[in-house]
Amino acid sequence: MKILILGINGFIGNSLAARVLKDTNWEVYGMDIRDDKLDECHGAERFRFVEGDICINREWIEYHVKKCDVVLPLVAIATPSTYVREPLRVFDLDFEANLQIVRQCVKYGKRLIFPSTSEVYGMSPDKEFDEDESTLVLGPIRKQRWIYSASKQLLDRVIWAYGFQEGLKFTLIRPFNWIGPKLDDLTLQPEKEGSSRVVTQFISSLIHGSPIQLVDGGTQKRCFTYVDDGIDCLMKIIENAEGACNGQIFNIGNPNNESTIRDLAYKLREIFLSNPASRHCSGTPEIVEVSSGTFYGQGYQDMDRRVPSIKKAQEIIGWSPQVDLDTALKRTLDYYLDMHPGIKDR
Ligand code: UDP
Repeated sequence: MKILILGINGFIGNSLAARVLKDTNWEVYGMDIRDDKLDECHGAERFRFVEGDICINREWIEYHVKKCDVVLPLVAIATPSTYVREPLRVFDLDFEANLQIVRQCVKYGKRLIFPSTSEVYGMSPDKEFDEDESTLVLGPIRKQRWIYSASKQLLDRVIWAYGFQEGLKFTLIRPFNWIGPKLDDLTLQPEKEGSSRVVTQFISSLIHGSPIQLVDGGTQKRCFTYVDDGIDCLMKIIENAEGACNGQIFNIGNPNNESTIRDLAYKLREIFLSNPASRHCSGTPEIVEVSSGTFYGQGYQDMDRRVPSIKKAQEIIGWSPQVDLDTALKRTLDYYLDMHPGIKDR
């Protein structure tokens, strides 16, 4: 099998590519604007990488869609601060640029595995979000946070419609707060505050000795999923035994790893302080509260809970996540402590 991964240097892309090269005999073709997370892949015989931008290098993409069997367009902006600050950039990249790739899959009859998002459920009142039953609830237009959710939802609907009307073979995946090594680059500059996702934001604060900030008190909850578990699921979806994943949507999350953001902050700080490398950092960072208006701006709105139902992934592909929250946080933190330049010598 030949697979095309656009955004292969991203958090999901690099991890997936490394796993495919390690565990299968598939060929991997990848494009990204950067390649700093692809050390495990470079040099492998079945790996081809080109540095490029999906909005510019359209011919390369079309040629490779034609050439490959499965296409994973993983290029997207997926950080809430960008939804609020640059909603048009989110729409241009996450919706418009990806729509063209979806259409090429239709044109050449290729299988598409597309990243939807847990964010599409928005403020749905359901206790567990169900791929085929839950109502999707978004806030008012002036709350720009929802542009990501709305863009992804519309693409989900377009892909579904291409499946329905034109026979596109597709699977949609909805990751729920995946965490792990290489999640985000740590933010060093205060003006970039909020520009990474919560776990990396907190790790950044711990390493640099700045206060951990709990947005609106940190009572909101998320279910954190270790990246290796997520990749296990994605591999089964790509394998697609007996075509069972065709036309399906899968939540990929760990309902057992639910935590309030406040508990997450205390837990991470404890894990950090128990690591000898933390002695080289600047003391014990405080945990403070901040309003969402101050942290993200007026266009922000949050959801209190986000719990996946994973019944479908369990039943159809026999997948269940294995890594508990403490282990996931420890592995993620260890990675950043190990790779952060100078931290051991300070
Ligand atoms: N959050 C926080 N402090 C931070 C960053 C995020 O309290 O420094 C909160 C944010 O308001 C949200 C949750 O943590 O409720 C998860 O944020 P993340 O950026 O990981 O993305 P989301 O799960 O909302 O897509």
